[in-house]
Amino acid sequence: MKYISTRGDASVGSAARGFCDILLEGLAPDGGLYLPTHYPKVDAATLQKWRGLAYADLAFEILSLYIDDIPAADLQRLCRATYTAEVFGCAAITPLKPLEAGLFLQALSNGPTLAFKDMAMQLLGQLFEYELARRGEELNILGATSGDTGSAAEYAMRGKRGIRVFMLSPNGRMSPFQQAQMFSLQDANIHNIAVDGVFDDCQDIVKAVSNDLDFKRARKIGTVNSINWARMLAQVVYYFAGYFQATQSNAEKVSFAVPSGNFGNICAGHVARQMGLPIDRLVLATNENNVLDEFFRTGAYRPRGTAETLETSSPSMDISKASNFERFVFDLLGHDARAAARTAELFGPALVRDGGFQVTDVEFAAIASFGFVSGTSTHADRLATIRSTWERQRVMVDTHTADGLKVARQHLQPGVPMLVLETALPPKFADTIEEAIGLRPPPPAALAGLEDLPRRFTVMPPSVAQIKQYIEDHTAT
Ligand SMILES: *Cc1c(COP(=O)(O)O)cnc(C)c1O
Repeated sequence: MKYISTRGDASVGSAARGFCDILLEGLAPDGGLYLPTHYPKVDAATLQKWRGLAYADLAFEILSLYIDDIPAADLQRLCRATYTAEVFGCAAITPLKPLEAGLFLQALSNGPTLAFKDMAMQLLGQLFEYELARRGEELNILGATSGDTGSAAEYAMRGKRGIRVFMLSPNGRMSPFQQAQMFSLQDANIHNIAVDGVFDDCQDIVKAVSNDLDFKRARKIGTVNSINWARMLAQVVYYFAGYFQATQSNAEKVSFAVPSGNFGNICAGHVARQMGLPIDRLVLATNENNVLDEFFRTGAYRPRGTAETLETSSPSMDISKASNFERFVFDLLGHDARAAARTAELFGPALVRDGGFQVTDVEFAAIASFGFVSGTSTHADRLATIRSTWERQRVMVDTHTADGLKVARQHLQPGVPMLVLETALPPKFADTIEEAIGLRPPPPAALAGLEDLPRRFTVMPPSVAQIKQYIEDHTAT
């Protein structure tokens, strides 16, 4: 399997790359995102064969269709090392919880940081360590976080050979639980840098450091951001796992509702559907930052700036420029050279010149055949959904899952099971749960006492020069 850029890779001709070539890279050189040349089709016989597999072996089968530059035995070992009951809480890894007839939650957040990002990040940790060892290279991951992504990355990379993590966070601004989660890590390869500033300051520093190409090369700086194709691929697996649990035969269809921000999670559902998994609808749920809902209703994509992005009670979806959305648009336009030229125009000049774009009527009409529908959920909707789910089913859902559940209910169809992806657990967002039902969700037993552990972090001013110096001091080899 080879990989191409959504923008046609003009800068390097048609030199398509293998999986391990793009594993450690971010954007393609032309600014596009990597996608496979085609989506392998999974036929009925294969689906039947996969139905009984353990999660790790299902992951291996799916990954094998996209990765041909890691020996099969090694890839299987990496999958089995990643998806264990010990790390994800139970053998099913992503079990379904029935809410009512035809409506389920699929639990994706039983990993170490209580959010679904562990599903992909844990695999990425294994793949990075493997590939770096094979090349005899090192990687220094530099990132900025307001909470979820940073902790998922640190828990995936802790103790991994050849990898260090430098994670910037706004000093004192993460939730107490998130601070405890990250700062209690004692692993020597994890560096928490609490920057005196806000999240945007952290992100600006990461950009400034990454734009210094000499420093970046000399210090082997890399990222683990959500456009990484390996993360997307890891997420494809749980759509299959959810489908098998909700159905008896491959003649049945299911729908998925997905709380969305960067369009990573639901894009994996789109890939699963393109592979032939019998998915009826992909229900995209946004919070008040509803740029994507607007697109799927009107065909207009108008990303918003930081100033227009609202702070909500489902903060991991407070995103107004969805970094993975370009992948879907490239597929919508036909996944070929013509599509690449049009994608390059839409996401390059048009975004800058016009602040967004509107697809044509013909292109808009094609969206229906991809199964997408959408909706917006507000703070009041979250509270009402958390309350009614608690009162009716005695199930607590977190604020992001509540957004998914609210929009899912608007798109239920008789005879088609709806799986709502549970993207985080309630203790991470305890204040809003308490506002909704007057109860504070207890942290899971494994994390009790977390807030009392000793902490390891360095407070620094928002200075690019000082942070570069810190990285130099801690990467001397
Ligand atoms: C990251 C995140 C999301 C959004 O997922 P995308 O892949 O960015 O669309 C939703 N909920 C939670 C809890 C998250 O951490």
